Amino acid sequence: MVEAANSASNALQRRGLMLILSSPSGAGKTTISRMLLERDPQIALSVSATTRPIRPGEVDGVHYHFVNQAEFDRMVEADEFYEWATVFGHSYGTPKAQIRAGLKEGQDFLFDIDWQGTQQLYQKDQQDVVRVFILPPSIDELRRRLTGRGTDSPEVIAARMERARAEISHWDGYDYVVINDDIEACYHQVCEILHAERMKRARQTGLIGFVRELMRD
Ligand code: 5GP
Repeated sequence: MVEAANSASNALQRRGLMLILSSPSGAGKTTISRMLLERDPQIALSVSATTRPIRPGEVDGVHYHFVNQAEFDRMVEADEFYEWATVFGHSYGTPKAQIRAGLKEGQDFLFDIDWQGTQQLYQKDQQDVVRVFILPPSIDELRRRLTGRGTDSPEVIAARMERARAEISHWDGYDYVVINDDIEACYHQVCEILHAERMKRARQTGLIGFVRELMRD
């Protein structure tokens, strides 16, 4: 009995996955990402390289690899990115090496990237990518969340709403859609997706030997 359990758990090695969370700003993606990273030891943040200036509280190598444009261009030339894009005037890219090595060892990665990056990543690696889009519960609630502390002008708020609508228009490029009505419930739904995806047969590469063993006379 114990032996059987051991051989099963030894065999429970699987290939890692790439979980992409996208949403319009104000839909709660950042909070859900933080909850996942804090509560689930099997998933790590994919740390992108960017040319945008570091913000207070950010740590180089933890939130991003902050690089200058020349270094970014060199990385593009050397094909070091899975995908890269220009967002709000700055370059952002997903370095390949660390992710490829991690996936092989069963490490899952969380990606906080926009729809452009999602499309590129999916084209390069359909097998490992899981795409989740988070929606706000209503347009009124989205407006309320984007209104901030009430100090922004109507034009600024209108521009944010426009950007959010543009982002939402790409929702059909995702595998799963979750509505963030309640942050804990939304987190729970993202976890359910993650757990089910981890159990997909194609990811359970380490089970092959175990299953062969089970089928032996
Ligand atoms: P921020 O500068 O506020 O951290 O991010 C700005 C935007 O860039 C966000 O929409 C974020 O999802 C996106 N982003 C961050 N890293 C990457 C990346 O590696 N690739 C792509 N395509 N977008 C990214």
